[in-house]
This record gives sequence, C-alpha cells and structure tokens, in this order.
Amino acid sequence: MAGMQQQSAWIGLGANLGDARRCLAEALRCIDAVPGVRVAAVSSLYRTEPIDAEGPDFTNAVARVETELSPLGLLSALQEIELRLGRVRPVGIHNAPRTIDLDIELFGNGPVSDPPRLVVPHPRMHERRFVLEPLLEVSPDARIPGKGAAADFLPGVLSQRLERIGPFDWRNS
Ligand code: ATP
Ligand code: CA
Ligand code: CA
Repeated sequence: MAGMQQQSAWIGLGANLGDARRCLAEALRCIDAVPGVRVAAVSSLYRTEPIDAEGPDFTNAVARVETELSPLGLLSALQEIELRLGRVRPVGIHNAPRTIDLDIELFGNGPVSDPPRLVVPHPRMHERRFVLEPLLEVSPDARIPGKGAAADFLPGVLSQRLERIGPFDWRNS
C-alpha cells in the first residue's frame, strides 16, 4: 500500500528437525513473499545447543525485515508460514523439537505488546546467544527497549555453545 509507514523488525528463525537449512531458507522466501514484508538482511547460519529445549542441535539465523504490517499482522503471517512448513506442536511438551520456529525479537524501536499473543521485545532474547549473536551480525547497534544495547548482553551468554556455519544463501538453499 502506498504511503504506509515502513518499520524494521527482527525475526529469529530456528529449526532442529529435518533439513533445517532448507526449512529456514524456505521460511525466508515465504516471509519475503508476504505482501508488505521485505527481507532486508539475513545473518549467517549458526549451529547452536538447545536452550530451554529438547532434542538435536538447532540451526538458527536472524533476519531484518522492512514491513508495513502491524506487529500482530506480522505475527499472524509468521504463524501461518510455520503451519505451512509443517510445524508440529506435540501437546504438553514445552519447547518440543520443531521443524520451524519464527519469533519476533524486535519491532521498530519500541515495545509493542499484546500479551500473551505478542510480547516484543521477545522477553528471553537477551539470555540467548542464538538470538544475540546473529542479531548483532545484522545490526551491530541494535537496542533492546527497556534493557539497553544488545551487545552488552553478549558476554553473559558466551558459555552457550554456538558455531557459525557460514553465510546463508537463503534464496538458493
Ligand atoms: P520462546 O517464546 O521461549 O522462544 P517458543 O518459541 O517455543 O518459546 P511457541 O510455542 O513458538 O514458543 O510460542 C508460544 C506463543 O508465544 C505463540 O503462540 C505466540 O502467540 C506467543 N508470542 C508472544 N510473543 C511472541 C513473539 N515476540 N514472537 C513470537 N511469538 C510470540
Ligand atoms: Ca522461540
Ligand atoms: Ca515461537
């Protein structure tokens, strides 16, 4: 829509079942295809240990998107993509292994919450190396509203295992 205000949002992507790289790439292509959303920057791909979660290592990345959608509009688009890519939600298992998880970490430069459906900034992002490190790669000056510079939280999470796999050619993976 012409004249609508564009905002930046940062999306955390994770998968730990199946062909995770392919699934994250497909998710990014789906996100880029949503009307009113454009993928502007994508971090490297990372392999990380499960935190508060079960199962094999995760593959993670963070994307900056430019969007005309509202925060809730973006969340519904992401949830629709999770479903389309076959996310299974086993009943009663918190943080179960999943083919795809798409979280809104930051939206614009403010808190934008409508709990419990949406809490932004994501309340646990500053405790997660698998979010902070790819986020800082994409946006070194990122700030977490109410908390401060994202970079200031990195030293506190360096004990979490994370390996950079390499650049993420998401358009062709
Ligand atoms: P965590 O939130 O700790 O990363 P999770 O991603 O495994 O855990 P889900 O089962 O994917 O949790 O999501 C639970 C609910 O969280 C979703 O139904 C969604 O409505 C809500 N939610 C709240 N804030 C956000 C956010 N910033 N991004 C994505 N979902 C959110
Ligand atoms: Ca998550
Ligand atoms: Ca989620």
